[in-house]
Amino acid sequence: MRQIAQSLYWLDLGIANAYLILGKNAAVLVDAGIQRSLPTIERSLRRAKLAWTDLTHIFITHAHPDHVGNFPEIARRSGAEVWAHRLELPVLRPAPKGLRAADRWLADGVGMLMRETQATGKVERVLEADAHLSHILPDLRTVHLPGHAPGQLGFYHKGEGWLIGGDVMMNLAGLTFPMAAFTPDPTEAWRSILRVATIQPKILALGHGNPLHNPEEALHRIARRAGRILERMEHPPYR
Ligand SMILES: [Zn+2]
Ligand SMILES: [Zn+2]
Repeated sequence: MRQIAQSLYWLDLGIANAYLILGKNAAVLVDAGIQRSLPTIERSLRRAKLAWTDLTHIFITHAHPDHVGNFPEIARRSGAEVWAHRLELPVLRPAPKGLRAADRWLADGVGMLMRETQATGKVERVLEADAHLSHILPDLRTVHLPGHAPGQLGFYHKGEGWLIGGDVMMNLAGLTFPMAAFTPDPTEAWRSILRVATIQPKILALGHGNPLHNPEEALHRIARRAGRILERMEHPPYR
């Protein structure tokens, strides 16, 4: 676990990142990896002298299996409250019958494998866009970043300048668009990238790849690309 800002720690879980927000009276795990990353999370907490029971909350950026695999187990061990956006609940909560719409596209192709590892459990609080979470950490708020997942949430701390962005982008040899096969609404996804560029975070902490310090230039580049692509989507050229 690496400290990347005063209140923010990065947990590199291999397949995806998780983050820990340490407030005065709150210890928040943001995302929960795939199921086999549980020992890594436990080790990281222990190194920071934290026990499972010190966790007060689990925030979910979006309900993809590489981000939520352990949340029911961690909630059970810690007693932490699970918070997620309203639009992610259909995937997170156990559904007794049939495939839900959000599962249906996951069930295609590679998604089939992922769906089998999809975790479901109890979500205590439903978050919306622009929710102020100052009781967790002064200045902390949610940012709605749909497209890759309908209820994807970012967590932005203005004072320290960091934004946890889920899979709004990936940092793999530079900032890239999230995996297209798992991004059902590309138009919204490009708009969310523009939203992040407008916020101008000093640290961009994404779900995949190292957290990026001073991402201005990289954000500027991908935002220009987003602008061009959205322009084409809204005004397609005639052939
Ligand atoms: Zn994802
Ligand atoms: Zn992911």
